[in-house]
Amino acid sequence: MDGPLEAADLIGDAPEWQERALCSQTDPEAFFPEKGGSTREAKRICSRCEVKAECLEYALGHDERFGIWGGLSERERRKLKRRVA
Ligand code: SF4
Repeated sequence: MDGPLEAADLIGDAPEWQERALCSQTDPEAFFPEKGGSTREAKRICSRCEVKAECLEYALGHDERFGIWGGLSERERRKLKRRVA
């Protein structure tokens, strides 16, 4: 796997900001931790990523359920959605 954005790649829906995604140059496993696993490393990478906002918006818009996107875990994204809904 090449990271969280691989799925978008496969369906030909890869957005332009993906080219600047920091996670594509790092360990993809960190972005899909086992249940209860640490999300710290992925979040650390996201915090330095220049397309964090675009990434988070994409994940929310596409209802991405798994993995860390835009520095937020699945649970954190669900919470955020509930807050803005
Ligand atoms: S914010 Fe995180 S998950 Fe999103 S593109 Fe950047 S490094 Fe990847």
